[in-house]
Amino acid sequence: MRTLQRTLAIIKPDAVSKRAAGHIVSMILENGFNIIGVKMLHLTKEQAEGFYAVHAGKPFFHSLANFMSSGPCVVLALEKEGDAIPAWRKLMGATNPANAEEGTVRKRFAESIERNAVHGSDAEDTARWELSYFFAGYELAK
Ligand code: ADP
Ligand code: MG
Repeated sequence: MRTLQRTLAIIKPDAVSKRAAGHIVSMILENGFNIIGVKMLHLTKEQAEGFYAVHAGKPFFHSLANFMSSGPCVVLALEKEGDAIPAWRKLMGATNPANAEEGTVRKRFAESIERNAVHGSDAEDTARWELSYFFAGYELAK
């Protein structure tokens, strides 16, 4: 049986401001993901803190929320047969671009461990929660 898995991707403000969003969308499509929802948003600091609430209390939390609300980002709902969540994380590359593999989005576009170009959900439950943070059910293409 074919099962489609969904995940949430964000092209972060650093990548949008350097005009890399189109290239990153091309990489997503070339790697077999369907884009079933997309919106460009300039998050408030409160909205960024809400999205990253799991990291509240970590030393980088406030800086991360400031960065994520510093300019527009592009939020994407992705779907892929079988394994969208790990497949998108593999294509993103390691959180710290110093450790990111050749051919990954972060190797190519990330500037630092904070300004690292993209976000991806890390598990099925977080993907569901993150998708619902940005998209209502009717906004996702069938
Ligand atoms: P990922 O985005 O790879 O899932 P995490 O969930 O650990 O990584 O962290 C969320 C985001 O917080 C990272 O993508 C990055 O922007 C930022 N971040 C993580 N660790 C650090 C750090 N040590 N210093 C600064 N920013 C960080
Ligand atoms: Mg994470």
